[in-house]
Amino acid sequence: MPDQPAELQVHNPATEEVIATVPAATVTDVDAAVVRAARAQTAWAALAPGERARLLRRFAVTVDEHLEELARLEVREAGHTLGNARWEAGNVRDLLDYAAGGVERLTGRQIPVAGGVDVTFPEPLGVVGVIAPWNFPMPIAAWGTAPALAAGNAVLLKPAETTPLTALRLAELALTAGLPEGLFQVLPGHGPVAGNALVEHPGVAKIVFTGSTAVGKQVWARGADRLKRVTLELGGKSPNIVFADADLEAAAAAAPMSFLDNAGQDCCARTRILVERSVHDRFLELLAPAIEAVRVGDPADESVDMGPLISAAQLARVRSYVTDGLDGIRGKAPEGPGHWFPPTVLTGVDPQAPVAVEEVFGPVAVVLPFDDEADAVRLANATEYGLSGSIWTRDVGRALRVSQAVRAGNLSVNSHSSVRYWTPFGGFKQSGVGRELGPDALTAFTETKNVFISTEA
Ligand code: NAD
Repeated sequence: MPDQPAELQVHNPATEEVIATVPAATVTDVDAAVVRAARAQTAWAALAPGERARLLRRFAVTVDEHLEELARLEVREAGHTLGNARWEAGNVRDLLDYAAGGVERLTGRQIPVAGGVDVTFPEPLGVVGVIAPWNFPMPIAAWGTAPALAAGNAVLLKPAETTPLTALRLAELALTAGLPEGLFQVLPGHGPVAGNALVEHPGVAKIVFTGSTAVGKQVWARGADRLKRVTLELGGKSPNIVFADADLEAAAAAAPMSFLDNAGQDCCARTRILVERSVHDRFLELLAPAIEAVRVGDPADESVDMGPLISAAQLARVRSYVTDGLDGIRGKAPEGPGHWFPPTVLTGVDPQAPVAVEEVFGPVAVVLPFDDEADAVRLANATEYGLSGSIWTRDVGRALRVSQAVRAGNLSVNSHSSVRYWTPFGGFKQSGVGRELGPDALTAFTETKNVFISTEA
């Protein structure tokens, strides 16, 4: 592996200016962090549950008190619109609050047996490594961190190379709130160095990885030697299925932001718009003005719907999928500095073309016609991914049939919502392993111990 720079340069994607440089954690730094985390975890797990819950609630309150600061930092380092960034900081607060409510509810079971009593204990794993991507730096860090802490673990968070600043600030806020030193540490660094060190470290019991399917597979393989527990949240290529009986106006109005939110850098983006052939042309007529109306620009401007892509590399990747000569609808984007790409909907695309089956991770969708319900399900499932999807129909029976037939973890009917911190989230097929969020979130950070106590001795 070539030497990695000793510092991470953080850019503002809307201006390309360097806004910070951060030392990159080395393997030695990771080793030292694991030692500190293990020490802190022992004391943390021994605290009374109510005390742990109280500290996590204080952390939530502290995040809330700094919500605007965190949001503005997210705008600067990730190019998110201010509205989205405020929601993201609020999501961290809510996750901490929700997880805090789980501390005293993390109960075992009592199972009937002869000759004694059988009970189970959900015990913390120890030190958990959370490896986060750049597309939603704050929420995704918190999806792993909040329930892991609540279940009695310590957390080492490695943010993405391009977006370490909000993570570092959250670690400071944890200390301000009174969380013990060493319990929640942030290790900004390079994936193959600091990330891999967490994956291979014998003192790290579990890795929560969110990122690309290619790296997720490496993480699973490298951790397998130690049977490391993993949760993998990976890529997606989600369908938005529009049946002829749907409220077409509503479906067309909602379609743009279902794949343009966060400039399309969203694992749940509905980038394959499948439309019943009989309404295909009408749907496109309705979609065109909705796409053209999307305001792309300075993400700090509250009236903007979509900001820039994260980096020059991401812009080049997105451009490579949108070759000349493709038909479709193009929106507008600023010129000049910044990694801008216009909202783009492609029509007449071969359903097997790379842009129709691979995760572009940019503001690009394809529209593919289908003939009937069976054809819609076949097309929806014709991808290696299975993360999200939407179904637009007025027929309740069809909504349920298609929801059951589409092989994906998070579906919505007549809407595009898919992520709530109190409902489970995760992928089928190449989109991941395990679930995050929801009522069972803490359980994913425990090992079940079964104890039989004889009453006959
Ligand atoms: P990435 O896989 O390149 O990087 C993700 C993280 O892994 C980063 O922190 C990176 O530094 C680290 N990493 C890289 N190489 C590593 C290695 N060898 N060992 C350990 N860690 C390593 O992904 P990305 O480009 O940052 O994020 C975009 C991807 O994330 C997309 O594919 C997207 O779909 C996916 N994603 C999935 C979800 C989900 O919940 N399913 C959510 C958001 C993003």
